[in-house]
Amino acid sequence: MIIAIDGPAASGKGTLAKRLAAHYGYRHLDTGVIYRAVAHAMLSAGLDLNDEARAAEVAMTLDPGTFDDPALKSHAVGSAASVVSALPKVREALVAFQRQFAAVPPGAVLDGRDIGTVICPDAEVKIFVVADPKIRAQRRALEARSRGEAADEAAILADILARDERDQNRSVAPLKQAPDAYLLDNSHLDIEGGVRAAIDIVEAVRAGRQRV
Ligand code: C5P
Repeated sequence: MIIAIDGPAASGKGTLAKRLAAHYGYRHLDTGVIYRAVAHAMLSAGLDLNDEARAAEVAMTLDPGTFDDPALKSHAVGSAASVVSALPKVREALVAFQRQFAAVPPGAVLDGRDIGTVICPDAEVKIFVVADPKIRAQRRALEARSRGEAADEAAILADILARDERDQNRSVAPLKQAPDAYLLDNSHLDIEGGVRAAIDIVEAVRAGRQRV
């Protein structure tokens, strides 16, 4: 079974996807990491993030062994990822890797922006996770402070809104809910509540029921 989890930045979809994968014994792919790895390689080599031909080359020769690099988690790399991910040739170069990952039995949970719409349009379960931008910014700030870093909530909110705007309005594979995706608003759910709601959706689909 393939479970597609899409949603905007800092919506909590990553944690949710990881927990769902553990619950069902499936593999998990955070597809944002792939775009972050391309962006990081471009930044490290001093290349222009909008150089589509070079970025596509980087994407085609990516080493999944680098996906654990903590440098990929920074805000700067996340914003750069949202620039390179708007380049059609970069997205094209990464489709096969994601589909191959998804196809391995017994199942996989992929989280990203276009999993339910482009990468795995036939996924058995699609969940579109959203949360109020102000709440996403608050959660990001709390996370940063818990790591001992200073956090300017207004700046984080501005970054989140700019990223949403870029991700939703690009011409290729924009962030949007697939028509057959379930909407999960986790603005007022804690992690456990979000995971329970997602499992309920998967179970309802498995049981062939419509969610009420
Ligand atoms: O989810 P994360 O913050 O790691 O994603 C970084 C950026 O990568 C996103 O803002 C988005 O532009 C891009 N991305 C994408 N498609 C995906 C996953 C991420 O375009 N499937």
